[in-house]
Amino acid sequence: MNQLALFEQPLPVTPVTPLRMKCGQNQFWIKRDDLLPFSFGGNKVRKAAEFYKEIKDSGADVVMTYGSNSSNHCRIIANMAAAMGLQCHVISPEENREILYNTRMVTQFGAVIETCPVTEVAQTIENRKAHFIKEGKKPYFITGGGHGNPGTHSYVRAYHEICEQEAQMGVHFDYIFHASGTGATQAGLVCGQLLAQDLSRRIIGISIAREMARGREVVRESIEAYLGAAYEKLYREELLIFDDAYRCGGYGKHTREILDVIDSMMCSEGIPMDTTYVGKAFWGMSQYIASHGIGGKTILFLHTGGAPLFFDRLDKG
Ligand SMILES: *Cc1c(COP(=O)(O)O)cnc(C)c1O
Repeated sequence: MNQLALFEQPLPVTPVTPLRMKCGQNQFWIKRDDLLPFSFGGNKVRKAAEFYKEIKDSGADVVMTYGSNSSNHCRIIANMAAAMGLQCHVISPEENREILYNTRMVTQFGAVIETCPVTEVAQTIENRKAHFIKEGKKPYFITGGGHGNPGTHSYVRAYHEICEQEAQMGVHFDYIFHASGTGATQAGLVCGQLLAQDLSRRIIGISIAREMARGREVVRESIEAYLGAAYEKLYREELLIFDDAYRCGGYGKHTREILDVIDSMMCSEGIPMDTTYVGKAFWGMSQYIASHGIGGKTILFLHTGGAPLFFDRLDKG
């Protein structure tokens, strides 16, 4: 049970370090959530730490979740379930046939991957749950990507952590940029900001997949779900910035420019980034800064992980 001691206490604070990179006379810093010390790190570790408590308290004996073959979430949940000695069952859309490092690890951790057409996901999840219950098992289902209040809460905490680090280091971040997928990371950061009634900065979610209307609405709904009764009083439209201008055609799609940014970050800073999430968002950030004429600011980029996807790309040459 030793590796689970990590989840029994507050997670370690992740490093915030300056980058050498310059763009528009801005100062750049990076927060390394990719270095969270469990299963190659990433934002899904923060989320999993919240689900860990819920799974334990529920007395579940099967952990179920949903995700694609490239899912960092599925890797971490499968790893955590294995460490907890629990069975793990992953529902995955059969459209992703490619076997990536995350897929291999999910299998290596002993999880069963059940595939179905993407249109039948909800039904497949319900059927499988019912099947487990009929067998006398107690499944605990985690929404894809760790979406939901526990996931949001993990990034409310991360927001407080960033504020504490600013105080310690004597810096103030005018902007926080990050990759926004299911929106839980962004919802958590923005809730942290709303709860602190802190109007001194902007948090910019760079969409890696969803288009504006739906993507933004999902983040807003998560904020509303998390804040509950306080939503009416605290919510401010202008603090929810979700930009879909850098999707490059959608989930998993990338361009030569993104690959160049990734290579340059690895060479000059020693920081690995993947094409699906972090490299794309980092490139999106530089485009956003240029197109919005942002200059002379202090900017934090949140590295949300995805290390195994970095190696998938190397494999492809
Ligand atoms: C899941 C993921 C994201 C997106 O986080 P959401 O909370 O789903 O928006 C960003 N980066 C990486 C590496 C991820 O695995």
